[in-house]
Amino acid sequence: MGDNTLLVSAGRHPERFAGLVNTPVFRGSTILSASLADWEDKKHRSMADEHGVSTYGRFGTPTHHALEEAMAELEGGYRSVLCPSGLAAAATALTSVLSAGDHVLVTDSAYSPTRTFLTRVLGRFGVEVTPYDSRMGSGINTLLRPNTKVVYVESPGSETFEVQDVPAIAAAAHAHGALVVMDNTWGTPLFFKPFEHGVDISIQAATKYIVGHSDAMLGIVTCTKAVWPRLKQTCHDLGQTAGPDDVYLALRGLRTLGVRLQQHSKSGIQVARWLAQRPEVEAVMHPALPEHPGHALWKRDFTGACGLFAIALQKMPEAVFETFVDSLQLFGLGLSWGGYESLAIPFAPGDRTTQRWSYAGQALRLHIGLENPEDLINDLAQAFAASAASAAIKITPQQLMV
Ligand SMILES: *Cc1c(COP(=O)(O)O)cnc(C)c1O
Repeated sequence: MGDNTLLVSAGRHPERFAGLVNTPVFRGSTILSASLADWEDKKHRSMADEHGVSTYGRFGTPTHHALEEAMAELEGGYRSVLCPSGLAAAATALTSVLSAGDHVLVTDSAYSPTRTFLTRVLGRFGVEVTPYDSRMGSGINTLLRPNTKVVYVESPGSETFEVQDVPAIAAAAHAHGALVVMDNTWGTPLFFKPFEHGVDISIQAATKYIVGHSDAMLGIVTCTKAVWPRLKQTCHDLGQTAGPDDVYLALRGLRTLGVRLQQHSKSGIQVARWLAQRPEVEAVMHPALPEHPGHALWKRDFTGACGLFAIALQKMPEAVFETFVDSLQLFGLGLSWGGYESLAIPFAPGDRTTQRWSYAGQALRLHIGLENPEDLINDLAQAFAASAASAAIKITPQQLMV
């Protein structure tokens, strides 16, 4: 079945819910048993890992189980668990497979809070963390140590969008007995199939495109059958769970993920191409553009690009940059991405250790939403014009007031 068919059908069981198309929101903590025999039966089935059998709200309701089932199918893994945020999903995934004395290799381009979790939290429990250059493929085997248990990948990288050779890294890691944990948020379950590329655990910040409307936080971890017992146990041991209303919003978002992504993708490429020929722009970090250093790998392994990319601007005075950002009317200034609306946020990849950021100018991460792309381009053009006008004025009104 094609992905769009899966998006519509996965995890849906109207016959169980009075024929309702959508699995309703089940709110609850206590789940009553009809008899002692029923209680014992449920406990045993739950311990025997029967999906959808729950003895307590923390272990999920039918709402949770619907999303878990759909996500495992879409990502192509064995089972999924839900966490209250994308970062909680990454933390749970890593905690489930790392112990004191273990070593983990983490790509330099990883989402910065994930790296901080590794060093600041797991580091306290005796896990050794080494960042590596995201452009390393099979060469990663030179960094693998006898105690390396996990190679963490994120492709394309957060903010800087380097594409990783995930199959080559996975082959090296597996030959060494290490697992590959991937943040697949940019690829979504549609544009990158982690388990077909050797990944053992895949993380989705469902907060982004899966929820898709900037109205809930959620994380999802999907894994292979071999990893599942550890992931499930750790999830239970940590008390990880997610609110049913947020899970419902993710299920609702999931049904339209395919059509939304098509538009984000198309508009994203259109805006990125336009930016690439602007004199104010030094570089566009978008893997679908042929000039992107990771383009060939992206083309080989991905079936699409979402609406998130970055630009490095020609260096401009801070005040001019500020005028540019503040002149944008259709791009909101804020964290996160993957909603229907466009966003712009400045960044400085200062935490990179093995990869130097080579641009002197300001950098902006852009999320291209579902607005008409021509309007977004016009908005960027008028903001460039406003910033150019402000650069031409030697003394700004603010300076006069001082
Ligand atoms: C946003 C993001 C996360 C974290 O998700 P939250 O739901 O905000 O915790 C993880 N990875 C990537 C790549 C992200 O962009």
